Amino acid sequence: MDYVEVLKNLISIDTTVPPGRNYGRAMDYLEPLFQGLGFETQQVAIPPEHAEGREGRVNLVCHRRRAGLPRLIFYGHIDVVPAEEPDAFEPRVADGKIFGRGAADMKGSIAALLLALDSLGTRELRYDVSVIITTDEEYSQASQLRYLARYLEPVAGSFLFCLDSSFGFVAVAGLGALHVDIRVKGKSVHSGLSHLGENAVENACRLVGALLELKKKVEARQSNVPVHPATGLRWMQSRLNVNVVRGGTKVNIVPDDCLISVDRRLIPEENVADAKKELLEVLSSVPEVHWELERVVAMPTLPPREDPLIDALADLIKDVTGESGKYGEMGSGDLAEIVAEWGGKEFGLGVIRPECTIHGRGEFVYRKDIEDLAEIIKRFLA
Ligand SMILES: [Zn+2]
Repeated sequence: MDYVEVLKNLISIDTTVPPGRNYGRAMDYLEPLFQGLGFETQQVAIPPEHAEGREGRVNLVCHRRRAGLPRLIFYGHIDVVPAEEPDAFEPRVADGKIFGRGAADMKGSIAALLLALDSLGTRELRYDVSVIITTDEEYSQASQLRYLARYLEPVAGSFLFCLDSSFGFVAVAGLGALHVDIRVKGKSVHSGLSHLGENAVENACRLVGALLELKKKVEARQSNVPVHPATGLRWMQSRLNVNVVRGGTKVNIVPDDCLISVDRRLIPEENVADAKKELLEVLSSVPEVHWELERVVAMPTLPPREDPLIDALADLIKDVTGESGKYGEMGSGDLAEIVAEWGGKEFGLGVIRPECTIHGRGEFVYRKDIEDLAEIIKRFLA
């Protein structure tokens, strides 16, 4: 199989979310490839009520079922984040790398899975295997994953191999997340009469000041779960980032409105309820500022997963690449939580490295990493 060609074709299908472009086209391209590898396939149209009202969400479900063997489900997503460069969907191969939006996150991993399955041919696999290629991972997909479960039964006791992950080690834990939008309200007046108004931007700055004090405290918290040294850290750490402050309309108008968005990430030893309480206490401690919570989105923390199968995968990584390990990742996602709901066990291995600039400019993937991941998957399945 010419995996470079497959990946170039995948990258050139612009699957940006939002809004969620060309999902059907991407699945139409992938479906016959899986069929050619002995899979029974089905395109599942997700009803809008299971996709937060969004239309046109098509997921691909592929099966090579073998009753009695351990249940293994590969997970991937076809959507990508928006790109700033105009040529991000014109893939380019140079210096042992493949460039383009989605190369590492995570169309390169889909190419690796196909390459592995192709090299196995008709050999019997060690597992009762399914593959799901999903949509809206870069937006929010928890309800879509819940809906998909009915096409994957039994999900209880299953292993979920997440291909949307880092290269070189097994990802066994992730950060919880708490995303909070805070709306600061004021009273708009002429700038010369500001004593009669209430400046929402200045008041928002006072809240931000308090949040930055909390940030120092939060980011001193260290987990017992190690992270890969390439992150520049040794252990998972809590995070608090003020990532949006938006307010004001004109230099001579006292503004009556300002939005603050806070991205709080939680180590496995923390929990969402306490983190929210802590945040609200800090906001409430700032006197004479009128604010309200506009939107709160939470993903729970999950303790590190352990299993002999995860250890076996870590050993295979070492056999193929010479290095390995089991680490937490400094990211969050819906998947681990949903799989925990299913009573399954999720772990991750993909082709992402810190230098691949996923979600940034010039995203690329190493060809060698795709080839190594394919070899690891091949040995894992054989
Ligand atoms: Zn991803």
